Amino acid sequence: MLRIFYFCAMANNEELFKKIIAHSKEYGFIFQSSEIYDGLSAVYDYGQNGSELKNNIKAYWWKSMVQMHENIVGIDSAIFMHPTVWKASGHIGAFNDPLIDNKDSKKRYRADVLVEDFMAKIEAKNAADIEKARKRFGDTFDEQQFVETNARVLERKNQIAEISKRFYKSLGENDLADIKLQIEELGIVCPVSGSKNWTEVRQFNLMFSTQIGSVSEEANEIYLRPETAQGIFVNYLNVQKTGRMKIPFGIAQIGKAFRNEIVARQFIFRMREFEQMEMQYFIKPGTEMEWFEYWKSARIKWHKALGIPATKYRFHDHEKLAHYANAATDIEFDFPIGFKELEGIHSRTDFDLSAHQEYSGKKLQYFDPELNTSYVPYVIETSIGLDRMFLAIISHAFDEETLEDGSQRVVLHLPAILAPVKAAILPLMKKDGLPEKAQEVMDILKYDFNCQYEEKDAIGKRYRRQDAIGTPFCITIDHQTLEDNTVTLRERDSMAQVRIEISKINDIIKDKLKIEF
Ligand code: ATP
Repeated sequence: MLRIFYFCAMANNEELFKKIIAHSKEYGFIFQSSEIYDGLSAVYDYGQNGSELKNNIKAYWWKSMVQMHENIVGIDSAIFMHPTVWKASGHIGAFNDPLIDNKDSKKRYRADVLVEDFMAKIEAKNAADIEKARKRFGDTFDEQQFVETNARVLERKNQIAEISKRFYKSLGENDLADIKLQIEELGIVCPVSGSKNWTEVRQFNLMFSTQIGSVSEEANEIYLRPETAQGIFVNYLNVQKTGRMKIPFGIAQIGKAFRNEIVARQFIFRMREFEQMEMQYFIKPGTEMEWFEYWKSARIKWHKALGIPATKYRFHDHEKLAHYANAATDIEFDFPIGFKELEGIHSRTDFDLSAHQEYSGKKLQYFDPELNTSYVPYVIETSIGLDRMFLAIISHAFDEETLEDGSQRVVLHLPAILAPVKAAILPLMKKDGLPEKAQEVMDILKYDFNCQYEEKDAIGKRYRRQDAIGTPFCITIDHQTLEDNTVTLRERDSMAQVRIEISKINDIIKDKLKIEF
């Protein structure tokens, strides 16, 4: 058996990101949309392995939300909604991003992202100083004391606080001239041209619109939904009544959302058509902070249950709150492009239900039998991008290993529960009845697991192909199998091989797929 003795360090994150993108295409995970026509910017298709992985992420989320919570139910609402929905929700007025162009490179940026990246660079300098000090002082290092007393670190922290205070104030007041001034004063340059030759900052609405109705009828402008949440809010009463739901209760949904993103250059991190997995939790007003904390810890537990190290996640509390929120945090993930938002947890107050009540004229309240009174429920929302979750999973799983014999393998250490293929069934040779026996094994397992039968190429090559798509088990059928009904079971990460009876395979795979959250 080969043992791994060296994990190849990635040259840099940009290179790693490029490798993940190339790997995703080469192994049927993700393709550029309409590729034969040179593609459509920021739109992607999921291939044969990608759609399996995506479905498994959905199932993992749905199970943890709907199946594991007696008071959470799921719905599937339409993408098209009445246009007034978006007036009530504030999206027509306020779903904007501030954009700015660089006159030399002609590249367009989100002004808030330019400033946030600038602050992140300062923060990175502090992180580097902390690491240096940790190495210097060893076990006696007290990080808190260092951060609170080191002059350089303190100065940078103050700088970040000042930039952030001014920026979010200007953004909140829609003072676009000051945002431009701040970008100039900070000396932020265009990463492409290196110049500071910026246009004015403008607000840009992110919703896609289209027309509903035939040409002869009076056409009505409608929107492709920019979030799935509103489909839940407008169905609040339907679900509460027909499901006889008692507060607190939740409604979950997985579905497509569309945003005409200004900057969409980060593969599936920021797409114009993407999928969200959202859950709105309806609660008694005044209990929101308690539930906000509850969902923060429930959601981070869900992520960590996949076995990804805790250091890859962090919370980022919002300083600038959206128009609907009274508390908000992001769960950020350490992507190859840095720590970025993976999931949002928002305390949305009664903003949405009250607004829909006002615009529709329909009462959207809850009669609380304990209090003997009616109220508009408050809402805690958990909202995660399915595609971002996909990117987090595949980028953490991707690994290039040099083995003991000097050969290389690319392997996806995917959590088994999410792997597109759970087991590959491989007859050692294409003769002597081995394919027929392998097919028998396939017929036993295929009812419980997504399996792949492969007989082409040498067995080593077939193992590598399965490693590259993250298949946790390879099952090899050889001449001995014909005699005693045993097979070789090879485990992906350790590459350890054991001889086991066919009747035991099912339990071994099932055991590997167990997960608790
Ligand atoms: P960002 O600040 O990155 O634009 P956001 O704060 O606008 O994200 P939300 O409106 O809170 O995002 O949406 C919830 C989740 O939906 C995000 O945490 C993210 O995972 C996902 N998401 C949002 N926009 C996109 C997009 N353009 N492409 C892919 N996923 C997205």
